[in-house]
Amino acid sequence: MPPGHQGAAPSGDLMRRHKIGSAVPEARPPHRAGRAPGYTWTMDTRAQRSPAKWESWNPVTGCTKVSDGCRHCYAERFAERWRGIPGHHYEHGFDLQLRPERLVLPLRWKRPRRVFVDSMSDLFHEGIPDNYVRAVFSVMERAPQHVFHVLTKRPERMLALAPSLPWPANVWMGVTVESGRYAARADALRRVPAAIRHVSAEPLLGPLDALDLTDIDLVIAGGESGPGRRPPQPGWLRSLRDRCLTASVAFTFKGWGGSSQTSGGRLLDGVEWNQSPLVAAAPGGPVQQPLF
Ligand code: SF4
Repeated sequence: MPPGHQGAAPSGDLMRRHKIGSAVPEARPPHRAGRAPGYTWTMDTRAQRSPAKWESWNPVTGCTKVSDGCRHCYAERFAERWRGIPGHHYEHGFDLQLRPERLVLPLRWKRPRRVFVDSMSDLFHEGIPDNYVRAVFSVMERAPQHVFHVLTKRPERMLALAPSLPWPANVWMGVTVESGRYAARADALRRVPAAIRHVSAEPLLGPLDALDLTDIDLVIAGGESGPGRRPPQPGWLRSLRDRCLTASVAFTFKGWGGSSQTSGGRLLDGVEWNQSPLVAAAPGGPVQQPLF
């Protein structure tokens, strides 16, 4: 997913260059109603680590809890460690703060990066002004060399603002669905004209049989980490994986969680699930690699 979005499938040359020859093409409609045009969908089934460089971009920091998945919010835990330390970036802990000085950062990064937007907040938090959300989307539109992952637990506000936002092809829009109780978040996501729509099932706290996968491109699942973690049951993950495979939705499993994010390993039934929607790039642009 990429700059310019010319609507072309990856050429053989492009595929060789990015070593994706084993990608399995899937028959999918190239364009769906309301979508940004110009992406081609294939599924990369190789179990290998991504060479892509991840970057966090936090034009906002701080948040407030909205659902069960927030209980052990790592961002809160991190930010609150520094509360009250004069001059520290997190002097005000996890209080919501706009960071306009960071808005331009992606425009300065010349090499393509995969960017997690607001890993320390939720871009659709009710305390963030509409114009500020628009400014963040405008920067993403002006930085087509990167792929931006936006993830929210506030799909109602995302939906309300969607008509006033640009939806460039390099923005992957996602919602967290940590259990069946929040499956309706994916309904809101389906109504947003993002080029790639993804569901984050992390931390997975219950079965997702109620999750409708229609028009979802990618599901990323994972267990919780850190003190008080709530481990996922293998059956929830198997069922989710199998439903994704049946529906030709890319499935990535980040791992079981544990005392640290990596301590439980990443294998599910002996396989490292590392699929991603693979999107054609403009000449010279990036092609999607496995995410993690
Ligand atoms: S929405 Fe995300 S950032 Fe905000 S409290 Fe919940 S887990 Fe933390």
